Amino acid sequence: MLFDLSDDHRLIQETVRDFARNEVAPVAEELDREKRFPYEIVAKLGELGLMGIPFPEEYGGAGGDSLAYTLAVEELTRVDSSVAITMCAHTSLGTQPIYLFGTEEQKQEYLPDLCAGRRLGAFGLTEPEAGSDAGNTKTRARLEDGDWVIDGAKQFITNAGTDISGHVAITAATGPGANGQPEISNLIVPTGTEGYEQGEPYRKMGWNASDTRPLTFTGARVPETNLLGPRGAGFKQFLHILDIGRIGVAAMGVGLAQGALDQALAYAKERRAFGKPISKFQAIQAKLADMATEIEAARLLTYKAAFLKDQGRNFTLTAAQAKLKTGRLAVRATEEAVQIHGGYGYIEEYPVCRYYRDAKILTIGEGTDEVQQMVIARALGA
Ligand SMILES: Cc1cc2nc3c(=O)[nH]c(=O)nc-3n(C[C@H](O)[C@H](O)[C@H](O)COP(=O)(O)OP(=O)(O)OC[C@H]3O[C@@H](n4cnc5c(N)ncnc54)[C@H](O)[C@@H]3O)c2cc1C
Repeated sequence: MLFDLSDDHRLIQETVRDFARNEVAPVAEELDREKRFPYEIVAKLGELGLMGIPFPEEYGGAGGDSLAYTLAVEELTRVDSSVAITMCAHTSLGTQPIYLFGTEEQKQEYLPDLCAGRRLGAFGLTEPEAGSDAGNTKTRARLEDGDWVIDGAKQFITNAGTDISGHVAITAATGPGANGQPEISNLIVPTGTEGYEQGEPYRKMGWNASDTRPLTFTGARVPETNLLGPRGAGFKQFLHILDIGRIGVAAMGVGLAQGALDQALAYAKERRAFGKPISKFQAIQAKLADMATEIEAARLLTYKAAFLKDQGRNFTLTAAQAKLKTGRLAVRATEEAVQIHGGYGYIEEYPVCRYYRDAKILTIGEGTDEVQQMVIARALGA
């Protein structure tokens, strides 16, 4: 069993670490405060080949594997979650469905712009009445004169409403299926399609510089050829996409917890009380030691999920375990980091304040903790 990263993996880790420190850290607080989408950073990520890490070079991707992608997401989140989720949702959720299920024509049409970061991809699964119960899709698509005509609504969708949003891949009921369940298919809906509207951005607890909106479809028409993969395969497809997405979100949990530890350790060494740095108090040392230990365990689990995927092995269980473990860790670690900062941790100029707000979504998005427990229990045969 080898625990060392290859030279290629180390290179991407260092490249993204430097980028996050030099380009993201100086503007992260301002972007969050102004709730401003990081267009300039996305453009630079595109130039560095970081908006299409796990896709083949023939489509403009970087030809990296899941571990390379995991390392990049971790390093970005260590500094800022809004930038990280923009890249992560774009890659795991927006671009993957086209790469995995698209025809050669669809790949040629969409992937080069997506991989270059000229266009952003989004994935519309969640609906007002279909979150954890994502199969309860109420959005309908019917075939009419060679077009799919779509009616319905999606909720909490990342990356669909920016100036560079290129498409949203949505699930829609395309007919009656077996056992009274609808037949679900995936469709590509390009931005600008008549009848496809992006609502106002939500006012969120965190991820303030990322784009999250409700979407509506009112007689929105897309060509029949915008179907992704076989008709009726949508349910299976989105489960697979969520499995992959969980590795990315788990990497966000590791990165956010590590970022919280970085900040807490540095602060504890500087802040003095009772005549010495607070890092010399055992109570503070215990917090830092627990954080570092939990982070290392969570990191290994997350890398293992990526490793299994890269080996072509089943990674559903490990990805769900990694997602469950890291979401909870991020919440706990950011809270401890705020505690170590005392009153300053409650003040927005200190990154841990933002980290604390950014952490909670990691136990909810991409499947809640309770959904991960269901996936894990199912894999155990319970
Ligand atoms: C900022 C943000 C960005 C997002 N981005 C996207 C995106 O890009 N694309 C997208 O499709 N979605 C996105 N989502 C949606 C997200 O994935 C859902 O919010 C999440 O899956 C939970 O669904 P829900 O909100 O409908 O909660 P619900 O499913 O209504 O769950 C409510 C509670 O009930 C629990 N629960 C539900 N069913 C069970 C059960 N069987 N057993 C035990 N407990 C259960 C849940 O765990 C939860 O605690 C985003 C959400 C947010 C907040």
